[in-house]
Amino acid sequence: MSPADHIANVHIYREPRCRAIDFEAVAAGIGEWLPRTAVTLRAPLLEGWLENASAEDAEALAMRLAEAKVRSFDRPARTGQRVLPGEVGYELRRLQNRDGEVYGILYDAWLFTDAARMLLPAAEARLENVHVIFTNQLIGTWDLADRRYHARTVVCGAPSILSTSGMVEAPARAPGYYLARRSSEALGLQEEEKMELARSYAGDCLRLDDPRLTDTAQGLVMQAVTYRLTGEPFCDDRDCRLFNAHWQSDLIRTQTGGGYCTRHAEMFARLQA
Ligand SMILES: [Zn+2]
Repeated sequence: MSPADHIANVHIYREPRCRAIDFEAVAAGIGEWLPRTAVTLRAPLLEGWLENASAEDAEALAMRLAEAKVRSFDRPARTGQRVLPGEVGYELRRLQNRDGEVYGILYDAWLFTDAARMLLPAAEARLENVHVIFTNQLIGTWDLADRRYHARTVVCGAPSILSTSGMVEAPARAPGYYLARRSSEALGLQEEEKMELARSYAGDCLRLDDPRLTDTAQGLVMQAVTYRLTGEPFCDDRDCRLFNAHWQSDLIRTQTGGGYCTRHAEMFARLQA
């Protein structure tokens, strides 16, 4: 996809099951950086579409999602892969239950994107429209080099998909945490002592109910915007909010209290000229 020279609209589709993110604040934050862009906050795309869909169309969407589900970390999901009995019904029930606590199912990000793209309004397909869909499920991309799935926080495309559980699960925690956890197993610590250990590392990673997810979500939406403008969502600058964080500490540092590097801040400013 060739880059857009301006962004007229950013449409953000909320995830009703994620209560930690203040979506109004996310939209307002994007509006501050892009005052000439209309930022709209919308109802959840898939769930909203389902409300007016025929039973047949609803089942077709559920089938696409069931096909997008990653069944094995070391085998890529494909359209047409065998769906087990009950999985289509399960997907339908999951979408219909907006209070559901189920999260962390891993979907192939590109198959999920394809399923969502079909639901976008045709009149808003132009490059100047950025659509960002929040999901509480995990999205992953297949890595050709090491032949396995990697969970992602954001996968940029049309639409871009942003995973709230991905923010918690995808970037790794501090090496010390894993080392300590392994040692606690080796030492045969009691449950209580293991809990104490987990608590001592609690601040170094995002949680599903973490208020820091709002700032994090804002920076990740800007990655989707940057992707549309330049074809590249990420920045090499470790202090820029567009930095592609592989560690929780990097994600938290860049997204909470961080800013954009001079190059990107100037790029956003030029859009307003
Ligand atoms: Zn930057």
